[in-house]
Formats: sequence, C-alpha cells, structure tokens
Amino acid sequence: MAGPAEQLCLLTPNRRLALTLQREFGERQITRGAGLWDTPDILPLSGFIQRAADDARYIGAALLPLVLAAEQSRTIWESLVRDSETGASLLAGAEAASLAHEAWQLTVTWRLRDRLRGALLNEDAKAFLDWAPRYERELRRNGQIDAVEVADHVRRLITERSIPIPRQATVYGFDSFTPQQAEFLDGLRQAGCEVSLAGPADAAATVTRAPCADAEYELRAAAGWARARLEAGCRHIGIVVPDIAARRAAIVRVFSATMAPDYALPDAAPGVPPFNLSLGEPLTAYALVNAALALLQLAGRTIEYERASRILRSPFIAGAESERTARAVLDIRLRQHAEPVITLDALCGMLGGACPQLSRVLTRLSQFRKDRLFGAQAPSAWARAISDALALTGFPGERTLDSFEYQALKRWHDVVAAFATLDRVVPKMGYAGALSRLRRLADDTLFQPESPDVPIQILGVLETSGLTFDALWVMGLDDEHWPPAYRPNPFLPLAVQRAAGLPQSSAGQVLDTAQRMTRRWRAAASEVVLSHALREEDRELQPSPLIATVPERQPDAADFADFGTAIHAVHAVETVAGDAGPAVAGAAATRGGSALLRDQAACPFRAFACHRLHAQAPEAPHPGLDALERGTLVHRVLAGVWMKLRDSVTLSATTDDSLDALLAEAADAAIAGIRRDRPTVLSGRFAEIEKLRLIALARACLDGDRRRDPFAVIAIEDHRSLAIGPLTLNARLDRVDQTADGRRIIIDYKTGDAKAVSMLGERPDEPQLPLYLVSAEPGAAAVAFARVRAGDQGYVGLARDGDLLPGVKAFAESRQRDHHAGWTELLADWRRELERLATQFATGLADVDPKRPPHTCQYCDLGPFCRIRERSGEVLEDAEGA
Ligand code: SF4
Repeated sequence: MAGPAEQLCLLTPNRRLALTLQREFGERQITRGAGLWDTPDILPLSGFIQRAADDARYIGAALLPLVLAAEQSRTIWESLVRDSETGASLLAGAEAASLAHEAWQLTVTWRLRDRLRGALLNEDAKAFLDWAPRYERELRRNGQIDAVEVADHVRRLITERSIPIPRQATVYGFDSFTPQQAEFLDGLRQAGCEVSLAGPADAAATVTRAPCADAEYELRAAAGWARARLEAGCRHIGIVVPDIAARRAAIVRVFSATMAPDYALPDAAPGVPPFNLSLGEPLTAYALVNAALALLQLAGRTIEYERASRILRSPFIAGAESERTARAVLDIRLRQHAEPVITLDALCGMLGGACPQLSRVLTRLSQFRKDRLFGAQAPSAWARAISDALALTGFPGERTLDSFEYQALKRWHDVVAAFATLDRVVPKMGYAGALSRLRRLADDTLFQPESPDVPIQILGVLETSGLTFDALWVMGLDDEHWPPAYRPNPFLPLAVQRAAGLPQSSAGQVLDTAQRMTRRWRAAASEVVLSHALREEDRELQPSPLIATVPERQPDAADFADFGTAIHAVHAVETVAGDAGPAVAGAAATRGGSALLRDQAACPFRAFACHRLHAQAPEAPHPGLDALERGTLVHRVLAGVWMKLRDSVTLSATTDDSLDALLAEAADAAIAGIRRDRPTVLSGRFAEIEKLRLIALARACLDGDRRRDPFAVIAIEDHRSLAIGPLTLNARLDRVDQTADGRRIIIDYKTGDAKAVSMLGERPDEPQLPLYLVSAEPGAAAVAFARVRAGDQGYVGLARDGDLLPGVKAFAESRQRDHHAGWTELLADWRRELERLATQFATGLADVDPKRPPHTCQYCDLGPFCRIRERSGEVLEDAEGA
C-alpha cells in the first residue's frame, strides 16, 4: 500500500494545531512563489491512529475488533451502574456512569491495572472494580472494543507489521504524553519509523500583566485589544479564556459588539465575524435541531404550548414561508384559549382553516403517530420512523438553508445514525424513551459549524498546545482560578492516581501543569498580555502567583464603543414632535368601551397603542383559571340568577333551597360557557370545587341584597352605545337597579379591589361607572361597585341619597364632598373630565405619560414599545444567560 508509508508525517496533540500548521505551510509556499505543492501529512495523533485503524479494516476486517461508538459505551455503562447494588442507591446514575466510564478510560490510558491490584479501596473504588470487569466481559463477548483501546490494537498491528507506517514521524507541540501515547510512539519506533520530537520556537515576547476591575471589564478589554491588533495588521491573534464553556454567551456578545457594533441590528450587513470560538454549543442549541426535536415531541404524548407555538412559527416545516403571517396570527389566537400543555390531536382540532398547509402537515403527523409511533421498537426502527415523521412534516422547510443550518442538519443526521447503532446495546424501547435518548445524544453533541479562516482564535486552556500567535491575551489568571482546583476521578483511589502522575490527581500536579502552560504562553507570541480580575462579587482578587512578577501595564487598546454609545456620542440629536398620532377618522371610535378612557387616563400612549394600533402582548397559556376568567364566572352566575329573580321581592320570597338550586343552575351554565373555549380547564373535581366557590360567593351577595329596601333589577349585562365628547363607545352595564320610588343605581361587580375614590379627580383610575352615569343613565342616583370576594361583600360607591345602598352615605355627607360642591357638580365635573379624555384620544394624543410612574407601568405590557425604562434613565439589565 502506497501513501503514508512513503511519507513523512507530523503528529500534533489536537486538530486545531494540525490545521494551523497546514495553513502556515500553505502560506509559506505561496510566499516562496510556489504554484503547486504536495499537501503535507499533518494530523493529530488521534487522527493518525484512526487512519491506521481504517487501513487495518481495509486490509482485513478481522484485524481489528468492532469499535463501540461513544453512545454505545455510555449506554452499557449506564445499564451496568443501574443494575448493580451500588447503582440502585444512586440518585444521579447517569453522571455516575459517565464518571465510571472516564475512570475506566483513565485505567487504560494511564496503565493503572497493576496499581489497582492491592490498592486500598473506598466504597466508590470497590463499586468501580465490580463494574469494570463486567464492562470488559460484555465487550469481549460481542467482539468489541472501547474507542480508547483502539490505540493499543493499532500499536499491536504496527509492531506485527500488519499495517503500513510512515518512514518518519515528527511529534510536534506535545507538553507531555500518557503512558499509552508513549507506548504507541515506541511501537512506531520498533516498527522502523523514525520518531522525533519538536515544538514551536519560543518567541522573543513582550509580556505584560493587565489587572482589570472585574471579569466583564476583562472581557471587554481583551476584545478592544484584539480589534486594535487586528487593525494594526496582526493576522493570528489568540485569546485564551479558561472557563470558555461557562462564558460562551458573554464572549460572543462582547466580541460581536466590539468587532461589528451594528451586528444585532435587523439590517446589519451579513458577514463572517473575524473571531472564532474553539468550543461548540450543544446541537440542541441550534434552531433547526430544536425544531426537529419539538416536532418529534409534538408527535408524542403531550407538549407545552410554548414549544408547540415555536413549531407554528418555525421556518423548518412545510409551508412556513407561504403561511408565515397567517401562522403568526393563528398563534396569537390560539394563545387565548390553549392549555399550557396540549396534545397533537388537540392542536389539530384548534387550527381552523386559516393555515391549510399547516393543518395538512399536522394531520398527516397525527395519522403517522397512530400508525408508526407506538409499541416497543429497536433504536434502528425508531431512527427510521423518526426520519419518516420529520420528512412528512416537510422538515427542514421550504427555504434554502444557510451554510450553518446546512451543517447543523448534517450533524443531526449523524446523531440519528448514531442512535440507530444502539440496537446491540439496548433493548427495545417505547417512543418516549427513544426520543429522550435521542435528545440527550443531541444535547451531548457539541457542534461548531465550520467557518472560513479568521484572524482571532478564542480558545480554552487545553487547546493552546503548540500554537503560536502574532499576539496573545490570556485572561482569568487571578489567585482563585489559576492554577485551577484539582479534580481527581472519584472512582479511582487517590493514591493510585497520584502515583501514576495523573494531571488532575493533586494540587502539585495541577500546579506543575499550570506552570508549564504559563511558561508556554509567555513565549507563544511576540506580544503577550496576561490579565486577571481584581474583584469577583464582594471578594477582592490578587494576580495568580504564577504571573505576580510580570510587569504591570494597561494594554493600549482603543475603547471601541457599542452601537448605542456610538450613536449617543455623535451628539447630533434631532427632535421630532411625536407625541400625537393622527386624529380619529370620522366622529366615532366604538371599539374599546370604557377601557379606552381608563387607558387614556392612565397613560395616553397606552390608549393609543391598545385602541388605535391594537398592540397587545401575546397571551401566555396558563393552567386553571386566571383572575379574568374567575371574574367572568362570577359575573355570569349573578347575571343568570338575577335574570330569573328580577326583583328583591322575589328574592325574599325564594326559599334557601330554591335559591341554592338557582345558583347551582347558573354556576353550571357559567362553567359550561368557560369550557366551550377551554374544554379541559374545568373538569371533574375542579369543576365541583369551582361550582361550590361560585355558589358561596353569589349566595353571600344575595344575602346582602335581601337586607336592602325593595328594588327591581331593570338591566342585566346590558349593551349600550355611549356618546362622550367626539367618541361613541360600546359598553356593557353589569346591572342597573331601580328602587320602589324610581331611583336608579348603576352597579358593577368587582372581584378585586374597589374604592370609591378611584372614580374621582383628574385622570380617574376607574372611569367606567361615571361614564355609564353621564352617558347611559344620566338620571341615576348612585354608582357602586358590588364587591364579590370571599369574606368581603357589600357596596362601595357614590350616591346622591343615603338610603339607596347599605354602607354608602349620601354624597353631601361623604368625605368626597370637599372636592365637589354637591352631586350635581360631581356629575358636571365627571362629564368635563370624561369629555376631555375622549377628546384627547380622538385627536390622537399619545404622550408617554403614565399617571403614577412606576406604579402605572407595573402591569403594562407595552414597556418595550414606549421605551419607558430608557426614558426614565433606568439601566437595562443584560438579559444574557437568562
Ligand atoms: S409602560 Fe407605562 S409609559 Fe409605557 S405605555 Fe404602559 S403605562 Fe404608558
């Protein structure tokens, strides 16, 4: 076999260094003016072993046993741990299995078997030594090996001369070798390969230490410095972040904002950012994969509405582009009645005809679910069913995928294929189990789309082996975090790990590694900045002892402003009078009812946004009843009962039993009304409890009314058109009573707080009763809230006369008489104020002017629209990581 046997090859500790060396080699050829050159054989040592294993399989399938995929190994370990006596008592069995597998891999790579014999064992180590032989027996019985054993099998084949090897191998950039790696290289030598060691030459570096106020400032400083170096012509800039996984989101935000301040704007120019993170994200973090998993969950038993909502708006299913707007509108509609957790069939039943393609897709999926997604099946059968289910939904959609999406799709296919290989190691399972295992597999798959070569590399500590840069910044080097804490494997005796020199086994080993790395960083570029934070939360930090003697100097980085700061810095503010929208066309704006005036009084912008622009926050499906639905039930029960009774004489003449029967009937009707919109919200025992609650509340109200002077109820849930100023509003009066001598009382049921003072003054909080009086019942003698709360019944209101309602004084004797000379004046003031509000609304006044900030804004959804927080100078919190 030709090929590697004839070549020289360069072996690196990781893929990143191999790619970097290949790129540098190519650049040197171009600089030399070469037009054609052989691609150098540069690859990571693990890649070299894999290639040799592939050669072995090509030469003769029997040369190498089958290698378990990572998910297969993990599955075996999980079942071993779960089925053992120790494992049965563990709460986090999957984590324990993962650590036990790691212990087994360490045993192989660090040749710990002999050391473990006769070692002093704690309970964890005893458990491990029970599991490990079982794992090996399982593998041998099936003719398989773990991936970590491939190197030893390949070494055997090399020393037996069964597979070809290169004539010469240079091992480049390694800090140290595990015993397994060292033996592998010895095997190469024995087989005649000339193996030499090499590493990058130390750069004559300017090394400085940069203290930073805190970790956030440190990140911004590094980003600003990197951009300055980029603009100065550096082509290879390294940023090392020790806790890169935990800080990924912050790194992307800060570097994006520094390199391209307008990156988050909707019309920002598309482009590849000049930086690249070495660490990928879980595959499930990619929208395309998330959509696939949501579709599969929808095909299961139940799904949270919020997740189903994403499917409705997802671009990754059939018809997503052509029905985009209709689906968004449909989602808003469904939110009003949907349960927080729904089924596929329930969703299909709610769709209506607005989105025919979506209906077709989901109906097909529902049928497929019944035909194929049931019973226990092998993983390979589930993998086929899952792929078919996604295909019939039109996944991944009708638009052309961009490069990152396309790569994520390919990786998803790999994950489904890996899942299909589990047949050998797991028994048949149900759909829920298959989906959960597939999701975990995607979650554990770190994925980073390939991007073009970019000048700024952001790396974790372990990825810097052998790399050199034009400029390098290493952050996080304070005395708490560098050297890091050591992390021995809990399933291996500590003494064994230390005797073997495992890097994470002791503080001394970790210190040794940290010293070696720090030395290497200091010589890895001509300019090196080592930075550390001075504070974390309320603790003061010092520089790590490993860099304490490095001369301190603030790096000369320009302070690159973010987009908002850059705009403000221009100081060219153009003032546009924008407090008024267009006037209401014609004379009438009939939608909104009294809520329109209440919103106008609370904040003109709120009224304009809600009643002219019809802006509203999407509803969030909630479990059970919310306050509005509970209030509606109470209104309906009282309306239903008074429809039958009609006056207080009949009420008094009705026996308790008959009244309870009336109430029960009205409560049943009210609950049935709610069920029409939300069929599952009040069922069984909950409906019974709610019915009892409604009956008790209404009964207490009626008992209060029994003690009043005679009256008749002359209007119930009465729709009226109310003319006020230039507007005509639609309204519905809860109830109007009339006393025996003809005086009328307008009543509004309240299940929340009710105060008479809320109807008074400028911009009244509760203008609806004054509006009803002024516009619908100008001769009425009283307006009142009827409180309907457990333990809190009675009337609160304003009345011309003191004998109209129990507990409501005549206006002339109330505390409010100080503000209005009398009842007649009160009515005139109400009319004036309501007409003023109506006129403001009609003319388009839209000031952002909350009546009592911040109280008025507390439960208003329009904050992001009116930008009240920015207006009031409140600092917006960073939503990252939320
Ligand atoms: S959040 Fe406040 S200022 Fe903004 S619309 Fe609502 S009430 Fe007005």
